[in-house]
Amino acid sequence: MDEASTSIRKLLQSARFTISVPELRQMPPDHGREIAFAGRSNSGKSSAINLLCQQRTLARTSRTPGRTQHLVVFELDAERRLIDLPGFGYAKVSKDMRAHWERVLPQYLERRESLAGLVLLMDIRHPLKPQDLVLITWCRQSNVPLHILLSKADKLSRGAAAQTLRTVAAHLTRQGGSQASVQLFSALKHDGAEAAYGVLARWLTIDQEEEKKGPGSVE
Ligand code: GDP
Repeated sequence: MDEASTSIRKLLQSARFTISVPELRQMPPDHGREIAFAGRSNSGKSSAINLLCQQRTLARTSRTPGRTQHLVVFELDAERRLIDLPGFGYAKVSKDMRAHWERVLPQYLERRESLAGLVLLMDIRHPLKPQDLVLITWCRQSNVPLHILLSKADKLSRGAAAQTLRTVAAHLTRQGGSQASVQLFSALKHDGAEAAYGVLARWLTIDQEEEKKGPGSVE
């Protein structure tokens, strides 16, 4: 494990639930850097956040019923945060909830200066659903770097997982703009965490000192 990887792990381990808010104007001051996590309900978003922060209950416990449409803020240090965005794609989602998501999310992506990048979770068995495509487009339009975790990769054979990875990568080449990337991920098997740490470290500028010593291995 290199130094940058150790530093990002430590930083993420210090994640603490700070606040959960329904509206952008209630968010903490827009300075420093933050990384947002998005995904359909049941995509494995909570499991990914918990694994990356090495805290078993961080994401799930903070998302209480009635607050499913909130932006949940986890402070890492005085200048850096993770943001757990509302899940989407519920079959039974009400019109109001959907309208809220469609209003708040693009506002957040467009206006939030400290947003360094968005991690989008997609269940590898159900990739590129309509609202994923919308989010990919919004990121491109707002110039927000995007990194997709194809979650639950353990559910497919290696060959099938690799095929889905190629399909999604090809979609990003066509639609995602130059700042979009994708990888396989399994919270269950702890697969893909190193590659994800590389992206998060870059976005949180963890590896600045490391860059002086030579390039890191970011996929
Ligand atoms: P969220 O609704 O997007 O936050 O999704 P969760 O993290 O709560 O996960 C939804 C379901 O998928 C749960 O039953 C998890 O145990 C399961 N799950 C999450 N990640 C993985 C994974 O990497 N592999 C497998 N097999 N199941 C997973």
